[in-house]
Amino acid sequence: MESANLIRPYTEELKTPLKNTPLTDAEVRQIRQDFPILQLERKGHLLTYLDNAATSQKPQAVIDAVNKFYTSYNSNVHRGVHYLSQASTDLYECSRRKIMRFLNANVACEIIFTKGTTDAINLVAQTYGRQNVGEGDEILISTMEHHSNIVPWQMLCEEKGAKLRVIPINDRGEIELEEYKKLLSEKTKLVALVHISNALGTINPVKEMTKLAHDAGVPVLLDGAQSVPHMKIDVQDIGCDFFACSGHKMYAPTGIGVLYGRAEILRSLPPYQGGGDMILSVSFDKTIYNALPYKFEAGTPNIAGVIGMAAAIDYMTAIGLERIAEYENKLLEHGTKVLEQIEGIKLIGTAKKKAGVLSFTMSQAHPHDIGQILDDKGIAIRAGHHCAQPVMERFGIPATARASLAFYNTIEELDVLGDAVKDVIEIFG
Ligand code: PMP
Repeated sequence: MESANLIRPYTEELKTPLKNTPLTDAEVRQIRQDFPILQLERKGHLLTYLDNAATSQKPQAVIDAVNKFYTSYNSNVHRGVHYLSQASTDLYECSRRKIMRFLNANVACEIIFTKGTTDAINLVAQTYGRQNVGEGDEILISTMEHHSNIVPWQMLCEEKGAKLRVIPINDRGEIELEEYKKLLSEKTKLVALVHISNALGTINPVKEMTKLAHDAGVPVLLDGAQSVPHMKIDVQDIGCDFFACSGHKMYAPTGIGVLYGRAEILRSLPPYQGGGDMILSVSFDKTIYNALPYKFEAGTPNIAGVIGMAAAIDYMTAIGLERIAEYENKLLEHGTKVLEQIEGIKLIGTAKKKAGVLSFTMSQAHPHDIGQILDDKGIAIRAGHHCAQPVMERFGIPATARASLAFYNTIEELDVLGDAVKDVIEIFG
């Protein structure tokens, strides 16, 4: 292993932020240079990428890490005695320890690599859910869930004769905490809750809600797809039992994600999928499953994705998650002001605690028309239901136009968005 250690392009330690002072415009200009795609021109306009909640762009450091893996270390993990296999295994496990530190998990075996948030939630539904949920039991979710934190539970409920209960939200898009308390009962077997809503931007009070669930003896799964890229996450401080996230929303490649689970719970669960790597021994009479985390990682994993995700974590932690959150909040405040001043625009999602999501409707035009016209100006936003149809229904709308922010966005880009939205209003009268 010694030679493999020597070639590690990164360590398991987290980077410390280069500065503690607020992110400056000059730094953001510098950061933008690290993202090749942000230099793209479209229809004579420099790309204004405001679709970060769908997926984030990748810095050169991440692209290079993936490239380096395939050019210098490519081999399967946990399989070979030869140099390359040891090197790729070393990188893979070093990345797991880095992610453990990034989320502040207690031990590395609590970090399970998945395809993404959807896969991580399905893993919990098919293991914890199938083991612990029975007829008449309840699973509690909120009105603002992404479909990937609704459908796996509906499927489980259908199979088991259990019931999905939904925590209501108010007109600002905030959880009704008193209703939540009332819904928690001895029938509740799990609370599955989004940390930050991709459709509204609401930051849910997950620590408080986890404490309330635990007081009622109920474990909690958090969908952290939208929180991990934008704020510092400490799963032990929050106290949640499961936490799911996706690499591609945090500047890493697609097809990779993480399920954090408390070791004690994970150990008690049956495997998710069967195959190579998740076993200790197989015979036709009896198969003995592997220890954590491998019990949940059947088959050849997305090694390059894991390595790219570790590089993305290095990139984010070098800037500093607190600085990122503070800067994005400044962008959100500015973007909110810009849109609020435009007549005919209605912001959907106005929670007091909100992340960088600007979801809006326009009396004059459908969100798809807004998206189309903005695209002609080189501005990428999302138009649709954002895989959160129940929350659209809650607000009585079929869709919104959504600009979602990242630390490489600028105040100027939000002004460009505002001007383009005014143009749309002019076109549609
Ligand atoms: N939850 C939320 C809140 C999301 O925003 C998304 C992606 N839009 C998901 C879950 C699903 O993530 P993925 O498609 O990466 O599995």
